[in-house]
Amino acid sequence: MTTKKKLIAGNWKMNGSLAANEALLKALLAGVGAPGCEVAVCVPAPYLAQVQSLVAGSPIALGAQDLSAQAQGAFTGEQSAAMLKDFGVRYAIVGHSERRQYHGETDEAVAAKTAIALANGITPIVCVGETLAEREAGRTEEVVKRQLAAVIHVNGHCISEIVVAYEPVWAIGTGKTATPAQAQAVHAVLRAQLHHAASEHAAGIRILYGGSMNAANAAELLAEADIDGGLIGGASLKAPDFLQIIAAAR
Ligand code: PEP
Repeated sequence: MTTKKKLIAGNWKMNGSLAANEALLKALLAGVGAPGCEVAVCVPAPYLAQVQSLVAGSPIALGAQDLSAQAQGAFTGEQSAAMLKDFGVRYAIVGHSERRQYHGETDEAVAAKTAIALANGITPIVCVGETLAEREAGRTEEVVKRQLAAVIHVNGHCISEIVVAYEPVWAIGTGKTATPAQAQAVHAVLRAQLHHAASEHAAGIRILYGGSMNAANAAELLAEADIDGGLIGGASLKAPDFLQIIAAAR
């Protein structure tokens, strides 16, 4: 039996402005109280300093949406783990399907980003998930296992420090959610794989579900045995919805 707290992490993606961020965070801070779970917001890089100061001393942790696999140097446009640490970043999303799809991120790049996050004391939220075509071809298990295996291969027993997010690509931003049973089935596969790699630590590794999780469906998804929280896109931009998801994660 594990005592780990669930994690509800918002992924703002490329949304926000100074004014909108302030309004959203003020509403979240007014409503969040003492949450029964851990809470984070993963914000666009230009707003790290703003959000760091707005959430200081609150139960809301700061997260980034990506980081460089390199430590420093001639990598125009990238942000290093050490730079993120300078702004108090606690979590970094790694290998989001939008990064894999639009920026050609490979399993190996995701594994390297996971390693550099861990080396800098940032908890990587490692995303895995199948496309609709892969699901329909019966390849879901093969795909998510391959994606996670690359991370395990490079990070070894350190993977006990990661967070995994199962995000079926067909459910992201589409309004189509995996059913609790569909999600739990994949989470159980991932848990078994983690168990193989990290034995007794596997039960303590949080596996989040992401893909159109919202105020209406969060409670039933979060009730599943191996769903340890959520990675929330669209619904994290609306304070009442995000607060309801946080409340469902007890
Ligand atoms: C995401 O971007 O990680 C995500 C799950 O988005 P949405 O909740 O909008 O489907």
